[in-house]
Amino acid sequence: MFLQGVDTETRQQIDNLLVLYYKRGGGLPVDIELLIKSLSRLTDNYIEIIEDFWSTRKKGYTSPVRWGFRIYVGYSDSLFQKRFTIGHEIGHILHTYDYTEEMPTQRPWRRSPMIFPNREEECICDEIAGYILCPQELVIKFLEDFQNIPCQLELFRKRQGPPFHAKLKLLSEIFGIPLPKFCWYIKRQFGEEKLLSLINSA
Ligand SMILES: [Zn+2]
Repeated sequence: MFLQGVDTETRQQIDNLLVLYYKRGGGLPVDIELLIKSLSRLTDNYIEIIEDFWSTRKKGYTSPVRWGFRIYVGYSDSLFQKRFTIGHEIGHILHTYDYTEEMPTQRPWRRSPMIFPNREEECICDEIAGYILCPQELVIKFLEDFQNIPCQLELFRKRQGPPFHAKLKLLSEIFGIPLPKFCWYIKRQFGEEKLLSLINSA
């Protein structure tokens, strides 16, 4: 099941973050700057994004500082990769770290060191990133309300594959996620069967 390894409290915080983001006028594709500001408000921590010119080893990492975090992203990564990395690091902040202390520290049983990363923790943070970039509820809303999405008609006219493929393609553009990744996220979130029934009923 999706986000299975996430405890109720963290799950609630992820949802609180999304509520705050959309309440403050956030849209799609997710506006990373506003998302980070919302996270900062939610956790009462200072959070800064830094483009890392030097690192070629990793796509990104988080470094705790007094009352907050610095998130480093690869300077030359694609825009989508940067957004995904930030989503993943938000996962670490909410799930891996105890951010209520002056100096945030990784919770001992969830530690994911840079040298030997904790694979389970890394997978959880990937899932959190997917959830933040395309929340299940919003995907359902779009699929249910598909007729009202502007320009869908044109996409259907141009369709080369089956109609549901055109729907997925349009949605992936709305969410700003490359199609194969988008399909992977929503398959993980819904399961294939549920997804197909949603697509076919839309
Ligand atoms: Zn990680």
